[in-house]
Amino acid sequence: MQTFPIFLSLQDRPVLVVGGSEPAARKVELLLSAGARVTLIADTVVGEIAQLIAEARISWAGRGFDDDDLSGMALVIVATGDEALAARVSSAAQRRSLPVNVVDRPLLSSFIMPAIVDRAPITIAISTGGTAPALARRIRAEIERALPAAIGRLARFAEIFRVQVRRTLESSRDRRRFWDRVFAGRIGELALAGDEIAARRELIRLLDSARNENAPAGMVHLVGAGPGDPDLLTMKAHRLMQRADVIVYDRLVSPEVLAMARRDAERIFVGKRRGEHCQTQSEINRRLVSLARAGNSVVRLKGGDPLVFGRGGEEIEALVRAGVAVEVVPGITAALGCAASAAIPLTHRDHAQACIFVTGQLKDGTVSLDWPMLARPRQTVVVYMGAESLPIIAARLVEHGLSPATPIALIENGTTNQERRVVGTLATIEQQARRAALEGPTLCMIGEVIGVSLARDPELQDQRASF
Ligand code: SAH
Repeated sequence: MQTFPIFLSLQDRPVLVVGGSEPAARKVELLLSAGARVTLIADTVVGEIAQLIAEARISWAGRGFDDDDLSGMALVIVATGDEALAARVSSAAQRRSLPVNVVDRPLLSSFIMPAIVDRAPITIAISTGGTAPALARRIRAEIERALPAAIGRLARFAEIFRVQVRRTLESSRDRRRFWDRVFAGRIGELALAGDEIAARRELIRLLDSARNENAPAGMVHLVGAGPGDPDLLTMKAHRLMQRADVIVYDRLVSPEVLAMARRDAERIFVGKRRGEHCQTQSEINRRLVSLARAGNSVVRLKGGDPLVFGRGGEEIEALVRAGVAVEVVPGITAALGCAASAAIPLTHRDHAQACIFVTGQLKDGTVSLDWPMLARPRQTVVVYMGAESLPIIAARLVEHGLSPATPIALIENGTTNQERRVVGTLATIEQQARRAALEGPTLCMIGEVIGVSLARDPELQDQRASF
């Protein structure tokens, strides 16, 4: 985070604006809407500002800037074309540790003016850290489109009941659930539509029943986090992550996906990291059961799909045995994510009538798979967890009849910004993989379909031509 966002209260506080141009008028307007007492310094002013001065809504010093003008100010905004003046005001303000913004001059500013969506009392501020103000404006336009104009009404409505709800529902979790129900349901709709009387009546009824409810039982949602790109989360996964009390996740869940979770949800890491104690599956199962029994809404996040090589089955069994409700939310498994990102068709009318997912995990230094079945023609084989056993896999497939020229693709960190691909043949891949030193999660895809999508890849053509 390049800058630290805060919302400053300027009600009745003095603010200095230097400049009398059109941009200065825009800033004055904003400052007045935040309740600031504006003093403006400029030799000449545009009509709008002149009007504000005439109405005595701002005070005007029709003279040059003096360092003493800064005393007692809460904030300084400079909007003048006079570069030397801007630099002078900026350094004088910074000497006094006064927050100063010089319009369009980030280097002279100690704070940035964000793009603003104003739905009072809701204010949304957007910053691109000074890199691309035009992009900030686009984001603002999208947010404006997505947010009902009357959303501020909803906030004001909630404010009326805030204290009463806080007194009635003791735990912050119960309160959050209560407000979730208010905002997501009929009460929110009524308030948005301006029918405050009906909204009030229903809210009180809901509060009454929430008070009398026994603590709701917790449950576990076994949620697929997809292969890494947060845009590939399902809407249901996103919604549950936004409501969860606790998120239990492992190593394959990307930080970008995790960032989609509710800010104050508790996050528990149960994956393996080098040099750290790694929790056994039964420890994880026990943890899930006890979190749910304590009344939490638990999201158990797993990379890809929870039921594809994810030990999701074992967790379901343990939860069901313990009488804990469990719901499974599918995710995009690595094979589908990687295939899409490399545009490799997993099936193809001419080249592959079947697609097989297998695990290449080593057991006692070896891989026991049904090799004659995997070496059959006209199918795509996708190997999860196969990076280490790649040499064994390639050798066995050739031994069982696949051509050494069969194309193979290794995809590391598929769908993320760090995605890397190595494409070769069963004969060449081991050496290529060593050279590439793949370290992240890597998926291995074998079959003629790789040649279809990457037929124009010069490296692959060279390798295949050598057979
Ligand atoms: N449940 C997961 C798979 C877990 S097994 C899923 O459905 O995708 C872990 C293996 O998945 C890794 O060893 C790797 O082979 C594969 N994998 C997971 N995410 C990946 C990614 N983003 N890119 C490439 N391979 C990935």
